[in-house]
Amino acid sequence: MTTPLHNANGHRRRELVKRVKAEESTCALCDTPVDKTLTMTPGGHGKKCPGPPCPGCQPHPLRGEVDEDIPRSRGGSPYERANTHLMHRLCNQRKGAMTLTEARNKLTGTPTPTTSDKRPKVSASPIW
Ligand SMILES: [Zn+2]
Ligand SMILES: [Zn+2]
Repeated sequence: MTTPLHNANGHRRRELVKRVKAEESTCALCDTPVDKTLTMTPGGHGKKCPGPPCPGCQPHPLRGEVDEDIPRSRGGSPYERANTHLMHRLCNQRKGAMTLTEARNKLTGTPTPTTSDKRPKVSASPIW
């Protein structure tokens, strides 16, 4: 099995990302419009960037990104249109490895009934 599947899938993913960005204009997590003109943070630079004339090389937190409803790590397909949505970069980061439903419930404060197997992490507090 030496087929360059990776590249083929990368192409497929890019096509899907294009399609999602063309078809959707609202963030799937917070339901507010996504400004598709945003790319980088003007004046925002990474540590290795020498700065100007670079206009900015840090991704804008509110730019649109395409995310999976059910994350790949949990069996969701990154190539299925039905499993992909437009989302703010910031919302995408907030969502992390949660499903869209879980993330939305967390955002709105609605308890997710199916997470009883996952106990919330208790942050360590000094006993002494
Ligand atoms: Zn959002
Ligand atoms: Zn820069």
